[in-house]
Amino acid sequence: MAIDPPVFDNSKVTVIFVLGGPGAGKGTQCGRLVEDFNFCHLSAGDLLRAEQNREGSEYGDLIRTCIREGTIVPMEVTIKLLENAMGAALKEKTSGDGWTKGRGRFLIDGFPRKMDQALKFDETVCLSSVVIYFSTTEEGMLGRLLERAKTSGREDDNVESIKKRFRTYKSDTMPVIEHYTGQGKVAEASGNYVDCLQRTKRIAGG
Ligand code: AMP
Repeated sequence: MAIDPPVFDNSKVTVIFVLGGPGAGKGTQCGRLVEDFNFCHLSAGDLLRAEQNREGSEYGDLIRTCIREGTIVPMEVTIKLLENAMGAALKEKTSGDGWTKGRGRFLIDGFPRKMDQALKFDETVCLSSVVIYFSTTEEGMLGRLLERAKTSGREDDNVESIKKRFRTYKSDTMPVIEHYTGQGKVAEASGNYVDCLQRTKRIAGG
């Protein structure tokens, strides 16, 4: 039986995954990379929160429970949201500002958080190029999250949920980082933007 090719051709679309524990600073550093490299930044967590709040979503309750419990939302939901967002960005951006026709550069933050989604995305959506990995200590992450909790309004920025998120990160996401390390695809950036910038330059040019 013939296997369908990925939805997006990786010779035309560059996908960079951004991983790191909860509160490692992924979102902050992605914002800076977007400014410097004109990436399209997609955050799996933001897409899930938007879907959770979308009126009529059949996944709202499921997503809410997973987020509160710090567990992984099933890959079918997360991958479909990313695929749709990539398609929409390609349509919009190729007609305008900076991406040459048919070529897209995506920074996908907080994904893949579990091995099944890593394998499925690479096989069916687009083969990823590289993983930027922000490594930092649990103590540092906890401090950042508790500081953020004062203003974020996020249901999972509380000590109970944070502990569960750390557990999920160790059990489900660390194996993903090990998997890509084995493929020589991981650029570790130790939460330091200069380091991250150097590594991204090598991958993305510019
Ligand atoms: P974040 O906004 O990255 O801190 O993610 C918040 C929560 O959203 C996580 O604790 C998970 O419950 C869920 N989530 C984020 N990214 C993913 C993903 N790639 N796969 C499944 N669930 C995710």
